[in-house]
Amino acid sequence: MDEAAPGDILAPDVEAAVVACLEILRQTPAAVVTDIDGTISAIAPTPAEAMVDPGAHAALALLRERLAAVAVVSGRAPQDGAAMVGLPELTYVGNHGLERIVAGVPWTHPVAAAMQPAIAAALAEIETAARAAADVPWLIVENKGVTGTIHYRLAPDPVAAVALLEPLARAATGRHDLRLTLGRMILEIRPLLAVNKGTAIRELAHDLGLRGIVFFGDDVTDVDAFRALREMRQAGEASTLRVGVLGPETSPAVLAEIDVSVSGVAACAATLLALAARLALTEDR
Ligand SMILES: [Mg+2]
Repeated sequence: MDEAAPGDILAPDVEAAVVACLEILRQTPAAVVTDIDGTISAIAPTPAEAMVDPGAHAALALLRERLAAVAVVSGRAPQDGAAMVGLPELTYVGNHGLERIVAGVPWTHPVAAAMQPAIAAALAEIETAARAAADVPWLIVENKGVTGTIHYRLAPDPVAAVALLEPLARAATGRHDLRLTLGRMILEIRPLLAVNKGTAIRELAHDLGLRGIVFFGDDVTDVDAFRALREMRQAGEASTLRVGVLGPETSPAVLAEIDVSVSGVAACAATLLALAARLALTEDR
């Protein structure tokens, strides 16, 4: 047999990402960390309809056998992320770092846990005010416990939707001492804590003594992680690579903080599968 990897001819963006990732994952110990929505799961009209790409699912299971850790870092509640991915052996960080499930054991940031009534109150106020101000059958308000998400993807006019929702959300988050962030057709409400996907990745790296970290993400909430990985690399703490999963809605803030990119969820899944295959080849040789 020759030295060619299984999977053979990959799209140029995938091939370039795989080569760059392998360089990092040959460090020991190393981890693959990924976002869910827009990264390994195509953006769906509603969050409940989203499904993890079957190729990505298979690849994450294979990668877990070869690496010190495979972690899923998402804005969803960690139980929701774990149920979507369906691999109990992975580490799940949810609600942008405020909660996690490691080896099946859940943890919630205690300060964030105490803010749950404020999150619920702010979401209720925003929803009531929005429904009083306009006909908004497309509005989805999702209470995720320690954070909340307001979805307007189903709105016929997203610009008008955000123009309606953002001032209401700013007022409610101000009243309840919460933070408001904007994402892909969503507004997110979180506690005023210096916890985000970047601090979550730093903790994971510290706990496991990681020397190599590859992160896949697509949205503005992933920029915290991208930035943390750049800083860790510049400080000589670990070898890191930031892979942007691009689409028509990609923010310039994402483009400014990635090392390589692939075009969409299917290409991300192809990258993960090729990585798993080539890591297996290297080890078995
Ligand atoms: Mg995402």
